[in-house]
Amino acid sequence: MIFLIFLFIGSALIYPSNLSENFEIKLKVVYLEDKRLPSITQKDIKEILEEAKNELQIKFGINYVNFDYSGIKPISIFFNKNLNKNDKYYKNLSLTRYKLFSNEISYEGKKEEILKFLKQWKLWDIKKFFSEDVQKNLNNYEDVMKELYKIYFEKLKILENLKLSNGKFLIDRETNDFNLYINWVVAMNNQDEYDILFTNTIIVYDDILHPYPHAVLRYAKVGGSSFDSPKRMVFYGRAAMVNLFEMLTDIDYFKKDESEKNIDRSLWNKIIGSFILAHEIGHALFLIPDVYDHPKQCLMDSSYETMNYYEGYKILKQYPFSCLKCEVYINARENFFLAENFFKNNNYEEAINYYRLSAKMTPEKLDVDYNSYISDIYYKIGNCFFLLNDYNNARSYLEKSLNYNPENKLSKNLLNKLE
Ligand SMILES: [Zn+2]
Ligand SMILES: [Zn+2]
Repeated sequence: MIFLIFLFIGSALIYPSNLSENFEIKLKVVYLEDKRLPSITQKDIKEILEEAKNELQIKFGINYVNFDYSGIKPISIFFNKNLNKNDKYYKNLSLTRYKLFSNEISYEGKKEEILKFLKQWKLWDIKKFFSEDVQKNLNNYEDVMKELYKIYFEKLKILENLKLSNGKFLIDRETNDFNLYINWVVAMNNQDEYDILFTNTIIVYDDILHPYPHAVLRYAKVGGSSFDSPKRMVFYGRAAMVNLFEMLTDIDYFKKDESEKNIDRSLWNKIIGSFILAHEIGHALFLIPDVYDHPKQCLMDSSYETMNYYEGYKILKQYPFSCLKCEVYINARENFFLAENFFKNNNYEEAINYYRLSAKMTPEKLDVDYNSYISDIYYKIGNCFFLLNDYNNARSYLEKSLNYNPENKLSKNLLNKLE
């Protein structure tokens, strides 16, 4: 009993939120349907959203996230509207993507960048993704890289040749824009309608510069992801996608683990809501990266132990409390939200205080580029000083901002105005 009371008080103290009671984050939700593949109903979507809200309360101690669901839309409409193949962004990203049906995966020239990417995790933590036999031969990051790309290529080949029960290819030879991750990155970068997008389509992970072990080794496809979506200011320039393909497909290759075979629709809705959607909101809202070294109850844990959705979900439910290592992220980000609110209400002095606090508290390992993020915050501080007619401080913060990201356009423009 005493222990229980302590636990209760303890968890109440974990995330002391300074946000006011009527603070709300309202997320616009859509379901983009691929008509060729198994699908779900509106009722299911509602159950998923309900569960996500519940999980956010348990794991992050927040109840200010609400959903505005706008229904089912054909996926092709979204891609016709938002995937612009002429823009520079598309062309740049296409330089380092796997080319569908090309029969080769060429990462040779990019080895250094890829090794740097892999080194963000401890060798021991990545090794766990491989079978025990393979692990014995993985002595360094180079070994891991080699093995990873070998499996990556094998899995891509399999995806390209899978067929639906009607004999057609899972990945259509002609119409497959929405089946590629890089295309999603580009479309999400352009779109200005939604914060959360559900889809039942398959998305091949074709970003060969960033071989996330949990994506590459899980069929080389994407289960869910958060994206830059600069026109969506609700997540401060981010949006999240939840992928339902694997839960719905009847293709043998994706045969579920024994434990997942008898899960009914309603339990799947709970798994999607907590293990996937709430996790994606953790990325988009608090910028917490995928972690392999947080405690068991952590919603952002992407370690080997949680590769299986149902097992991952069960662990979340078994430990229904928040993760201390995630707390740092939430506190930093809530100070940012506070600053934004003060800014909206023209209280620039207070906004400056909270932006500063938030910049100081933000951990370096983020789900977005740390330097660009800090550069944006320093721009905001510079802009506040500018609006207060304190040009010396404005200049100093804009310069700081450009130190972190020399390409920051807003900072450059405002600094030019000051000269
Ligand atoms: Zn994740
Ligand atoms: Zn955590």
